Amino acid sequence: MINMIFLGPPGAGKGTQSANIIKDFGVVQISTGDILRAAVNEGTEFGLMAKKYMDEGKLVPDDVIIGIVKDRLMADDCKNGFILDGFPRTIPQAVALDSMVKESLKTEITHIVSLEVPDEDILKRLTGRRTCENCKKGFHIEYAPSKKGDVCDECGGKLVQRDDDKEETIKKRLNVYHEQTSKLKDYYEKSGKLFVVDGTGTPDDIYNNIKEILS
Ligand code: AMP
Repeated sequence: MINMIFLGPPGAGKGTQSANIIKDFGVVQISTGDILRAAVNEGTEFGLMAKKYMDEGKLVPDDVIIGIVKDRLMADDCKNGFILDGFPRTIPQAVALDSMVKESLKTEITHIVSLEVPDEDILKRLTGRRTCENCKKGFHIEYAPSKKGDVCDECGGKLVQRDDDKEETIKKRLNVYHEQTSKLKDYYEKSGKLFVVDGTGTPDDIYNNIKEILS
């Protein structure tokens, strides 16, 4: 059973590698960023509130995000294992997760994988990142361009840039990461379940390292 936390700065490749893990290990991915973006697209009151924080590169308040994750983790499909991608991001979120997992789910976190990439690489990766509006396939204008130019080469959908993937916002998100989220490594160090993975190689090499840790 794999109940994993994926740590690492925005753009480290957590989403890409989660897709590989899902295929091989049959777990579900819980991405708090994806959940928030879905609410923003639906235009709910909650989505509008979250968007203000996201567009500024700030974190959505802890109590809000903790409530969302708790509801999601209680769903039946999490019983076969999960990957938390983008949560926890603060110490209070990590403390809340500990009690959710222990008291409500009666299980435990099995792996904490920290995917590490330097800031300069993150900036290059995120400013060039594009996503198909329709099928959500990911592209990069330089490293992984669509074969069909500015539309998706699988479904023909429009390729869009995330609102928070603008250079100024990326720098703010990286600051938040260094000030708050990177402290989680210390928090989990004592658990003996923390694994650090170099996120700068090829996606296949990185995945091989992760697979070894999880197998
Ligand atoms: P991500 O796709 O993980 O980079 O998340 C995009 C944005 O959603 C972040 O910059 C935050 O504004 C918000 N967000 C996602 N996860 C969290 C979290 N665990 N705590 C607070 N805010 C979050």
